[in-house]
Amino acid sequence: MTEPPKSEGSEEICPNCKKPIKEHSPEQVMECTRKLQEDKSQA
Ligand SMILES: [Zn+2]
Repeated sequence: MTEPPKSEGSEEICPNCKKPIKEHSPEQVMECTRKLQEDKSQA
């Protein structure tokens, strides 16, 4: 069994505010997710 190498740049960047998801508070994550979904439904 071989484990895949850990990629250093595995930080998820929020497409909404361009900040790492890690730096979001749970509330911020919910808000950004909602905004992104609204964008999708508008397009
Ligand atoms: Zn965000």
